[in-house]
Amino acid sequence: MEVIRAKRAGACYGVQRALDMADEVIADGSRAYTLGPLIHNPQVVADLAARGAEAVDSVEEIRWERAADADAPAEGAATAAGDAPAVVIRSHGVTPQVLAAVEDRGFTVVDATCPHVSRAQHAAAELAAEGCRVIVVGEAGHPEVEGLRAWAEEAGGKVDVVAAPEEIPEGLYDPVGVVAQTTQRRENLEAVVAALREAGLEPIVKNTICSATRQRQEAAADLASAVDAMVVIGGRNSSNTTRLAEVCALTCPRTFHIESTDELDPEAFADCRRVGVTAGASTPENQIAAVEAFLRAL
Ligand code: SF4
Repeated sequence: MEVIRAKRAGACYGVQRALDMADEVIADGSRAYTLGPLIHNPQVVADLAARGAEAVDSVEEIRWERAADADAPAEGAATAAGDAPAVVIRSHGVTPQVLAAVEDRGFTVVDATCPHVSRAQHAAAELAAEGCRVIVVGEAGHPEVEGLRAWAEEAGGKVDVVAAPEEIPEGLYDPVGVVAQTTQRRENLEAVVAALREAGLEPIVKNTICSATRQRQEAAADLASAVDAMVVIGGRNSSNTTRLAEVCALTCPRTFHIESTDELDPEAFADCRRVGVTAGASTPENQIAAVEAFLRAL
């Protein structure tokens, strides 16, 4: 059976960079914390925790006291003493308030915010500083979007998050600036901008979309139409992996979304000559290689 990997698959630049930065911090046995799971991949998150980089929901959860005070360390699962542990900021980025809270508590900040996300944060802040009402095209509540909102507000702006043109508030007036969550579809950004123009506005548009998601979807769609079955690897809580599986299923009904090889049933591939493999942006190389090896051995 031929096993073919999509031309673009797996960890994107920003996710791989965050993983590498966390690895570097704990390489010498140092302890670290990540603010939220570093990536949407339960196996990787568990492995990082086992090696010393534990995920916490907020900086307040981290119990740490300087060496001089370490006689009676604070209670809590995340108690440590000695040198300040590092706190790794994940690729989605954080609000300026969270960043300040990490610094104020004396932790070493390892900022793994993806440079594409940093660019979007700066764009949002810049528009706000120029006096624009800032429209963030994206999914309200997503950590990256809440970060963009907070960076713009910090710069004095009023912010609206809209997922689609229908959500544009009424009564806007120029100057209006637009940024996008990095994983947005270009068509959606264009639709929002077109709706603003139809409303008589002249929006200043900063296209902050990153191409990694689109490239993965296009490569997966190409491959799915040319194979007997598709295996899509990635966390079930990863929206980009789920979207990849949906894209593949459009042309390849035998599409399997899995997190690891344990979920693969050899019977399902009995009559396959060609099987395609792709993976979400939070899937590291070793997991893709393991699935490919499993399929080749069938
Ligand atoms: S999808 Fe793009 S913006 Fe998001 S982490 Fe990956 S490279 Fe960065």
